[in-house]
Amino acid sequence: MTGIRAAVLQAVEHTAAAHPVVGIVPTMGALHPGHASLLQAARESSDVVIASVFVNPLQFDDPTDYQLYPRQLETDMQMLTEHGVDCVFAPDLQEMYPGYPAAPLIRVSTGELGRRWEGASRPGHFDGVATVVTKLFTILAPPAAVACEAWFGQKDAEQLAVIRRLVEDLNLPVRIRSLPNVRDENGVALSSRNLRLSAADYDAACALSRALFTLAARAQAHQPLDLSQLRAQLQAAQRLDLDYLVVVDPDTMQETADDPLRQPALALIAARVGPVRLIDTMELCPGAAPTG
Ligand code: AMP
Repeated sequence: MTGIRAAVLQAVEHTAAAHPVVGIVPTMGALHPGHASLLQAARESSDVVIASVFVNPLQFDDPTDYQLYPRQLETDMQMLTEHGVDCVFAPDLQEMYPGYPAAPLIRVSTGELGRRWEGASRPGHFDGVATVVTKLFTILAPPAAVACEAWFGQKDAEQLAVIRRLVEDLNLPVRIRSLPNVRDENGVALSSRNLRLSAADYDAACALSRALFTLAARAQAHQPLDLSQLRAQLQAAQRLDLDYLVVVDPDTMQETADDPLRQPALALIAARVGPVRLIDTMELCPGAAPTG
């Protein structure tokens, strides 16, 4: 850990910038173009870019999901090098949590925000996310004189809301930046977990983003969202076990009462598809085309 701090400080010292900006991109690896968009944006707006690769056991409520989460550090390192990352922090479990599973004893509690939707289905998930992000910021953030930004994807919209609140409530000296969801040619949100989908699972997974695009089109046209009709379609689909499809306020994650929408809202969907749980999100803007 001292190694990575020393590397970050050295990289900061070596920049020619009078007011250096450090950009942090936290990941769990198995990197794809969604991660690449964050790396690229961090590279463009920071003097020093740090990426972390760590599959965080605290945010998994299902041990099998944790064990089977794809790990491919060598390939990831290639992508990180191609994107000009200055420092990579890829700790092993004991380096991150000495004494695990007994430690860490102290964890960050995300309260009711962390118990909605994904948090309700995966108890402790957002506390695990907030704990590891707090640790990463503490380990990686440069001295107070240096500006620090951290980059997150809007695909994980609830996670983003929790992290924004974490930084605000605990006065963490990091500015949170976010980027739109990156999708493949069929509209499916890129996810490391997609690697575990069979061809038939993948076809079934396409229904998730299709439902979100339908909602975005209805919102754009000021039409009723008719969530129950979309839910019924998804519940009838093969290979797909819908957990939730909801439209929420982007800050509080509480369900919106508006239908048709009068102001921008966020659609959240989660389902088990074949062996994996997938989530996706989309901004719904009355009168505007979908953005991601
Ligand atoms: P993960 O490795 O899944 O923990 O994700 C690391 C970061 O990449 C998080 O901030 C995610 O929101 C972001 N991310 C994951 N998938 C996508 C995607 N399809 N588009 C944009 N960002 C993404």
